Amino acid sequence: MNYKSTRNSKNIVTPSQAILQGLATDGGLYVPESFPIFDLNWEILSQYTYQEMAHFILKPFLSDFSDEQLKRCIELAYDNKFDTEVIAPIVGIDEKHYHLELFHGSTIAFKDMALSILPHLMKTSAEINHNHNDILILTATSGDTGKAAMAGFSDVPGTKIIVFYPEGGVSSIQEQQMLTQTGDNTHVVSIVGNFDDAQTEVKNIFNDSVLRDELQLSDSQFSSANSMNIGRLVPQIVYYFYAYAQLVKQGKIDAGSEIDFSVPTGNFGNILAGYYAKRSGLPIGKLLCASNDNKVLYDFFQDGEYNRQRDFILTISPSMDILVSSNLERLVYHAVNEDSERLSALMEQLDTKGHYTLTDEEQGHFSSFLSDYVTEAQTKEEINIVYKKTGYIMDTHTAVASRAWRNLNQEGLSTNPAVIVATASPYKFPEAVLVALGVEAETLTDQELLDKLNELSNIPYPPAIEGLLEAERLHDTTIEVSDMREFVRNIAR
Ligand SMILES: *Cc1c(COP(=O)(O)O)cnc(C)c1O
Repeated sequence: MNYKSTRNSKNIVTPSQAILQGLATDGGLYVPESFPIFDLNWEILSQYTYQEMAHFILKPFLSDFSDEQLKRCIELAYDNKFDTEVIAPIVGIDEKHYHLELFHGSTIAFKDMALSILPHLMKTSAEINHNHNDILILTATSGDTGKAAMAGFSDVPGTKIIVFYPEGGVSSIQEQQMLTQTGDNTHVVSIVGNFDDAQTEVKNIFNDSVLRDELQLSDSQFSSANSMNIGRLVPQIVYYFYAYAQLVKQGKIDAGSEIDFSVPTGNFGNILAGYYAKRSGLPIGKLLCASNDNKVLYDFFQDGEYNRQRDFILTISPSMDILVSSNLERLVYHAVNEDSERLSALMEQLDTKGHYTLTDEEQGHFSSFLSDYVTEAQTKEEINIVYKKTGYIMDTHTAVASRAWRNLNQEGLSTNPAVIVATASPYKFPEAVLVALGVEAETLTDQELLDKLNELSNIPYPPAIEGLLEAERLHDTTIEVSDMREFVRNIAR
């Protein structure tokens, strides 16, 4: 299976080349040329470990990796960095209502699901292509990707990683996690601006051919750890199949019957992986796209107009504070029947005018999606409702997805058994979670917040939290967006 660029269908590369490049050089994103159709024997699949499922699903998507190479990547990724052997547990909340917990990795957010394997996929891709360049990973983060990517690439020979995050736009725990990152090859910088500013400038730097040529002269090249990289996206398909298999195994659903997934969405990477799972034959009924107050995707699914011209709102679910959802480009490419000229024109409009609109026929491709947005007050209320009812404490992002599902279920739109995709541990956002539970948290120190949450939730401290607050801050740089390019140039030298 090969991958082609959304902006030029003739730009076709192998899986390993797509992973090495990150973004296509024409500014597009790589998408699979076709989708594999799996032989879904749930009797067998329900017995698979997470690692076996990963091998089964990834094999056709990474077709130029040998069996041995793929197995090795999987073994190195999904090991005891995770605090549970099942890697991605599914938890029953209520009748026909489950949470898929994707936060048991080393940075306690779902980004670990893909970023613990990406460095190995990248190294193997370099081997496959006899590529001896040093790889410089550029990443914009809304809070979680940055830490997870650095944790994966820290001290990996032949790589350097630079992470840009919005100053004041991440939680205090997220910031502490990033600033205490060890590894001589890791660099983390806050920028004066929001996530969109960081992500747009990272894309511009990628597409700067002068800079790219300079790098080539010193035997280096850029790649990306953002979900723009197919090496991020493809591993995320795995847990949709795994969740389904677990529900079959537990006797909660009949093999072959439909289930819905509700996904807290920012850059549209997680939910796009769900869509790819559906395209590959997983019996998904509806994919629920859950937005916070930055409801650009909700509006898009209502009337087909994508309009980023609006105020950027800082919320208690900061990893979803995004107005330019990169991966939507991939879905829109499929919706315009993979016409790269039409797609390029739409993206050009987004750049220059700040909005674009799809035709009714094009919007017809979105019939498997439902959407809702959840306000700050509803997010807090949802955390509280579920806690009161079941004792289960969820984080603010997961709460957005949970509430969106509850709303759509009550409207009779999402009626299948539903899986809420739980993307972060409440320990990552203790203040917002405790405020939601009615605790007067504003005056508490970070340590007091964690202790209080520990007391209420009975969830043991994840290793990611142990010693975090005492750890030494190793990074301390803030720059303007206009200085990002020069910063990258200096690190590249
Ligand atoms: C990144 C992130 C999201 C959004 O995921 P996308 O793939 O960007 O849509 C949601 N929740 C958490 C906790 C995240 O870290």
